[in-house]
Amino acid sequence: MNYYKARELADRDGHSGGFHFTCRNDDRVWPVGACRDHPPHPTAEDAERCFYDHELAQPVVRALLADQMLRCGVCNEFTAQTIRAGMHLFDSTVVCETCVPLGDDDEARRVLADLHPFTTGILIVSSW
Ligand SMILES: [Zn+2]
Ligand SMILES: [Zn+2]
Repeated sequence: MNYYKARELADRDGHSGGFHFTCRNDDRVWPVGACRDHPPHPTAEDAERCFYDHELAQPVVRALLADQMLRCGVCNEFTAQTIRAGMHLFDSTVVCETCVPLGDDDEARRVLADLHPFTTGILIVSSW
């Protein structure tokens, strides 16, 4: 299992070295998302917001539900369309093609952020 969360880094003297958003698997820990490429953040919340923004910036993927229609998270009409971005925070989200027209990825991200607002204390447990 992989455990994703913001973790405090210790510097050589054991003092706080700031926070990265990280993944832990057994005793290995590594930074994920944009945290792979920059120095630690001053707070855990900053690191969580970094991961949130990074997930939301991933390509928007559309899919159709196979055998069912569900209610659009915005207008409540029945639809088979789902959208997601990234791997964890913005999972398959039901929205109709009127609320998020095909090809309008900016609107898709706006709706995903609306339906999945940022919260602190992100902890994700997943097999990938
Ligand atoms: Zn970061
Ligand atoms: Zn809709």
